Amino acid sequence: MQSCFCQKNKPYPHCCQPFHLGLNDPITAKDLLYSRYAAYRCNHADYIKRTSSVLALENVDYQAILNSQDTWTGLKVLDEKAGKCLDSEGQIRFQAFYRPFGKKKEQGFEECSLFIREQGRWVYQEALDYLNL
Ligand SMILES: [Zn+2]
Repeated sequence: MQSCFCQKNKPYPHCCQPFHLGLNDPITAKDLLYSRYAAYRCNHADYIKRTSSVLALENVDYQAILNSQDTWTGLKVLDEKAGKCLDSEGQIRFQAFYRPFGKKKEQGFEECSLFIREQGRWVYQEALDYLNL
């Protein structure tokens, strides 16, 4: 069975697929981060939209996600604050790596993302800081 796009080594149907199909919502901000990373990997722009806050939606380039041919190569969670099932906010610091289409060299960035709850569901709000690696 295909292992999940989030690279957690679980089969896709038992990992992020139920989130992507809208059957289930991630319980923690970290699960949301992984499922959004997986969505970027499989060009699932609808999911990125659906899991962006009202504020973040203004910055989602739907077509760019849909058309992207970059290859996502890794996600590393470095630190997390709150974001659990009883929290209303969470922060996660992570590094993500990708190979831009047509390029050989991998690129990466480090970001501290803020996640909030909107109508009970975790959504991405904004990057509190961002650094190209
Ligand atoms: Zn997954």
